[in-house]
Amino acid sequence: ASRFEGVPMAPPDPILGVSEAFKADTSDLKLNLGVGAYRTEELQPAVLNVVKKAEKLMLEKGENKEYLPIEGFAAFNKATADLLLGADNPVIKQGRVATLQSLSGTGSLRLAAAFIQRYFPDSKVLISSPTWGNHKNIFNDARVPWSEYRYYDPKTVGLDFEGMIADIQAAPEGSFVLLHGCAHNPTGIDPTPEQWEKLADVIEEKKHMPFFDVAYQGFASGSLDEDASSVRLFVKRGLEVFVAQSYSKNLGLYAERIGAINVICSAPEVADRVKSQLKRLARPMYSNPPIHGAKIVANVVGDPTMFGEWKEEMEQMAGRIKNVRQKLYDSLTEKDQSGKDWSFILRQIGMFSFTGLNRPQSDNMTDKWHIYMTKDGRISLAGLNLAKCEYLADAIIDSFH
Ligand code: PLP
Repeated sequence: ASRFEGVPMAPPDPILGVSEAFKADTSDLKLNLGVGAYRTEELQPAVLNVVKKAEKLMLEKGENKEYLPIEGFAAFNKATADLLLGADNPVIKQGRVATLQSLSGTGSLRLAAAFIQRYFPDSKVLISSPTWGNHKNIFNDARVPWSEYRYYDPKTVGLDFEGMIADIQAAPEGSFVLLHGCAHNPTGIDPTPEQWEKLADVIEEKKHMPFFDVAYQGFASGSLDEDASSVRLFVKRGLEVFVAQSYSKNLGLYAERIGAINVICSAPEVADRVKSQLKRLARPMYSNPPIHGAKIVANVVGDPTMFGEWKEEMEQMAGRIKNVRQKLYDSLTEKDQSGKDWSFILRQIGMFSFTGLNRPQSDNMTDKWHIYMTKDGRISLAGLNLAKCEYLADAIIDSFH
């Protein structure tokens, strides 16, 4: 008899489980639009040239593998806060930012969740409906209560801004409001600059804590600064803000687990206290973060030539996604006889398109057409190329009707 009789089989992960199912499919037609990872036009994963260059330099220097401090690699922490807020942001100069290198976006969110659980045990987190599937897991496992605010309006395939504002306004004062900094996952729909201002008004008035998840900086518009403008707007108002950052997508460092949690505080002395407690939480969880990805980011950002090359490569990636987005729209419009308006696809930004396909329709995409996607109707355009757009359009039209 096993001691594990009481351990049931866990369900597959709704996102990473899609890749497992894709691998098991032997059809030549198969297409993986599940996980949000960039592929080339040949649908192959690729390491950015600028990353290869930084790694070569690191190898040549023959650096050691001593432990990093709990808070991570100092040059990375500086670079990451500079990238997020702009190097000349007064909050940086005034020492009001607590930054900890952590285990990519997910680990940074998890660390912040542990902090909320410990120091704000009576607060809840508001998350968008829908949101990235892992957000709920993160707060559940950290025992942080959460509820949803309205975000997506299926009627307009756009933002339900009125609903969003009403739900944030109705939440208990001092709640944490989780916001996607840019390229909302899974909908690809972001508030406009005017809407961000209104959101900041309500969040400030209700003494809520804005908590940004920035997983796509540079990937939405192709510009690092533009994609950070939502965060910077809140910081400029003098609000205290949480920001989790990830370099998985914009530098293609998925497996390096490199990111950070930043807390912008009202005074340097507050930032010191917050940072000390984040370190205290990290120590028994994973002790200290890995060094390789941190050095890559610090090298790329710290060298003007490599920084320029990164921006170019990022624009190329964002551009390739925009091209397939356009081609998919064109193919759907050309092939579909029903008169359906597909322009929502062009209005969405970032890696994904939220198609509006429901669960049985998504199942049809996979079962009949060998197209793998999450069951909420999200497709990753980063896993699509021009050659497959027509096939995908046929599958979508067939699944809708
Ligand atoms: N947040 C959002 C909204 C995401 O889409 C992702 C990745 O898909 C992440 C965070 C974190 O990813 P990672 O842990 O690889 O940095």
